Amino acid sequence: MKTTRTPTTICSCGMPLDAASSAHRTPKEGDLSLCAYCGRLGAFDQNLHLKEVDEKDLPLSTQEEIAAVRRTCKQWVTKKGGN
Ligand SMILES: [Zn+2]
Repeated sequence: MKTTRTPTTICSCGMPLDAASSAHRTPKEGDLSLCAYCGRLGAFDQNLHLKEVDEKDLPLSTQEEIAAVRRTCKQWVTKKGGN
């Protein structure tokens, strides 16, 4: 897992987001990211600030991938004893 520090963005849930993790690479402009606290979707701009994205504007296949990632994250949090 590779973690990249990014400029701090405050998610609409109120939590500061200042890093992105990926299995194998650093984020780039246009990449999507989920808030680890609330699951809200954002996209990185050229300076790696996150901007909120309306999922309904994305292709159905991408919406399905996002849903799968959220399910996996929820299972992980449940196994770790979170909410
Ligand atoms: Zn959030």
